[in-house]
Amino acid sequence: MDTKEELINLLGQVKKQLLYSQEIGLDAPTLSSHSLQYLREGLQLDREPLKENFDCNSLEELEDFINNCNKCKLSKERKNIVFGEGHPHARLVFVGEAPGMDEDLTGKPFVGKAGKLLTDIIKAMGLTRDEVYICNIIKCHPPRNRDPERDEIEMCLPFLEAQLSFIQPEIICAIGRISAQSLVREDFKITRERGQWQSFRGIPLMPTYHPAYLLRYPPAKKAVWEDMQQIMKKLGLTDPRELRE
Ligand code: URA
Repeated sequence: MDTKEELINLLGQVKKQLLYSQEIGLDAPTLSSHSLQYLREGLQLDREPLKENFDCNSLEELEDFINNCNKCKLSKERKNIVFGEGHPHARLVFVGEAPGMDEDLTGKPFVGKAGKLLTDIIKAMGLTRDEVYICNIIKCHPPRNRDPERDEIEMCLPFLEAQLSFIQPEIICAIGRISAQSLVREDFKITRERGQWQSFRGIPLMPTYHPAYLLRYPPAKKAVWEDMQQIMKKLGLTDPRELRE
């Protein structure tokens, strides 16, 4: 990590601490929209700056803004936008690919079979879904569960970037090929490169297999658990499985 990245990470942590202090009622200095903007822009390290400037000052405002989105063809068939859910200042954010049918119906991320497995993985890490944040690269369900198309990803990615700039996580876990290819590199090879730290806008990112793949190929669970252990180590979390042994 270079000095600039380190400084930005540090600022992110200061912001989180201040927001948390405000949340629990401590008399902390408030962050002006100017400094929030600065922190947001400060995250733009290794890619072009946000193309669009959303006039949103919180996750809630961003969600309201996205609820009216009809920028791409997916808006015509979706039942619900799946914005994401979890702790608004989570230390760890899981980013999946796209909402499936169950998610489209409920408006919540990862609630189907793959979602249940993700919930179990989060529990095995000693965490709950409320303590982390779960969202997707794109916010609308692609028909027949097809892969999201490039234009859909391009149009939706700025929303995820804005979302992350409000949350300021310490770690992103990219779930599956599409997520890693969208956040790291287009030619990212999930089978070869999972488990190796990457970064997105200066935030450490761990790419791992998608739980839908684990349902089809359970032996890959071992690799995912190794990736989760790396995340837990970086977050300073004790492995609950070690405690049980
Ligand atoms: N698969 C994903 O990538 N995301 C969801 O929300 C559900 C299934």
